[in-house]
This record gives sequence, C-alpha cells and structure tokens, in this order.
Amino acid sequence: MALVRVKNLSRVFDVSKPWLNRVIERRSKAFLTAVSEVDFEVEPRSTYALVGESGSGKSTIGKMLVGLLKPSSGTVEIEGIDLASETDAAKIDAIRSDIQMIFQDPYASLNPRWRVRDIIVEPVASRGGRTEGLAEKLLEQVGLSVQDAGKFPHEFSGGQRQRICIARALASEPNLIVCDEPTSALDVSVQAQVLNLMSDLKDDFGLTYVLISHDLTVVRHMADKIGVLYLGRLVEEASPNDLFETPKHPYTQMLLEAAPQMDGFGREVQPPEGEIPDPINPPSGCAFHPRCPIAQDICKRQRPEMRSINGMRVACHLAE
Ligand code: SF4
Repeated sequence: MALVRVKNLSRVFDVSKPWLNRVIERRSKAFLTAVSEVDFEVEPRSTYALVGESGSGKSTIGKMLVGLLKPSSGTVEIEGIDLASETDAAKIDAIRSDIQMIFQDPYASLNPRWRVRDIIVEPVASRGGRTEGLAEKLLEQVGLSVQDAGKFPHEFSGGQRQRICIARALASEPNLIVCDEPTSALDVSVQAQVLNLMSDLKDDFGLTYVLISHDLTVVRHMADKIGVLYLGRLVEEASPNDLFETPKHPYTQMLLEAAPQMDGFGREVQPPEGEIPDPINPPSGCAFHPRCPIAQDICKRQRPEMRSINGMRVACHLAE
C-alpha cells in the first residue's frame, strides 16, 4: 500500500485587496490557485521528488502533506488516513509524529536561544517521550559530535545546521520526511554531502522522502520517481531514467535544457526561457502554451488530461 496517496488535491488562496480598496478601485475578489487537481502516490521507503520553478505549487503541496495547510479540495492520505477529515485524535497524533519536515533555510528553522540538545529532542519531549542520550546518538548519526549537543546554532556552519535539522526530524522516528529544498541555501560544496547523508539515513532508518526542489539534476540520483509541476498542476511523472532519457512534456524538456550537466553541482541553474504567467489569471487551455515551442490551437482551447504513455504520466496533447 502507498504510504502517501494524494488525490485531486487543490489549494486556492484568497489574495484580494482589503474591502475598502476593492470598493474604491471597483475590483472584485482575487483568487490564486496554487495547486490544482494533483494526483500522485509515494511508496514506502522510496523518494518522490516534486520539481518545478518558483510558483509551481511544490511547497504548498509539501505543507499540505505535513498538515501545515488544509486542502481546498481533494485529499492527502498518509498511511490510509486523511488528516483533514479524521476525527480520532489518537490516530491524528500518531500520524503527525510519523511525518516530519525539513525546510530550506537551516538558519531560520533553529531557535537561536536553545542548545542543540533541546532543539533535537523537542518533538519527543513535547509528547512526553524519553529523551535521555537521544540528541547525542542522533548527532553522531548525522555526522556531528556528541559535544555539539551543548552548543548553540550560531556556532555551526550552514551544512552543519542542516544536519541538526535532520537529527531533529529523525528524533520522533518518522516514516515520512518532507524535505523542502533542503540544500538550496547551502554552498555547492556542501550540497552533495547533505544529500549523501539523507540517502544513507533513508536506508538506515527505512525512511520515505518527498523531496521538493527547483533543480531536476539535484533530485536525479535521489528520487525513485519525479513529478514535474507547472503552475500548480502535475504535468509529467516518471522514473528519473525515463524522465532524463525520454522526457515527454515540453516543459520538462525545457527544464532539462536549462539544467547544468554536471550532477547539479558547481554551476548555477539557468532559469528556463520565458516568463511564468500570472497565476491569478492563468492562460487558457494548457497553461504552458505561451512558452511552449510546439503549441497548437487546441492547446489554447483545451486543457490536456494526464495520460499514461510507456509507463510515464504526461499532460500534453502532443506527447507521444
Ligand atoms: Fe505544449 Fe500543447 Fe503540450 Fe501544452 S499541450 S505542453 S502547449 S504541446
């Protein structure tokens, strides 16, 4: 059974100006659809990567997976339980402790006034669990030293801080860790070390990852499956091999052409050509059509449905 099952997931934000401004400017309410009808499943002990440019909805999906945001419609099931509709408090609590999130910025996600020991054990302590020796054990598992437990976050480099974040995420023995751009705030020389550590921990702890990234090459060697998002919609899903060897969606092809060739490290990622459309007024039909080099008339009129082609899933009228 899939550990994560996302069905028809959408999230809409009300981005209207205040009422008085709207009356004076004669404007109606404005809504932004950050995520629209997204479906995917994540198998236990696998890594599912969600990739897209900024504004693609990937972080919004991550927040819905861990329960920081509620879906506007659709469902997120973790271990068969939909947190948004479940009423049994014990089940909700059990699932919550099974999910952890690692954020992009290790500088902002650690309380500067707490010692590392207290930061790491907090998720367990807040549930009344045993914390004796836990921080020290986890620090060693993430490649830091036992003595680091008594230090404060400012005494560490960016890469070391992300290791502390990982240790904290592991403290409650989660099944699922949602990692939102876990290496993009780090120096390129440190990115590979942190990704390698995450890979090792996945095997050691039997973890499942949802890995959110703007960079296809970073996720290539980590992911078992990659979902490509464009303007809130999943446009292609495939194994890394299929996606890199035979990308079917023009947007994936554009992302790959823009990506560095050297395993994602050592070079800046060039943004793909063209501008991302205004998500409050997305283009008709296929939202990618203003940037698509092979767009036809049908693309402006009709939104392409997701189809299965040779074991890949693609939402494009012309993908064959
Ligand atoms: Fe391009 Fe049309 Fe395919 Fe959209 S549906 S990606 S516009 S060819």
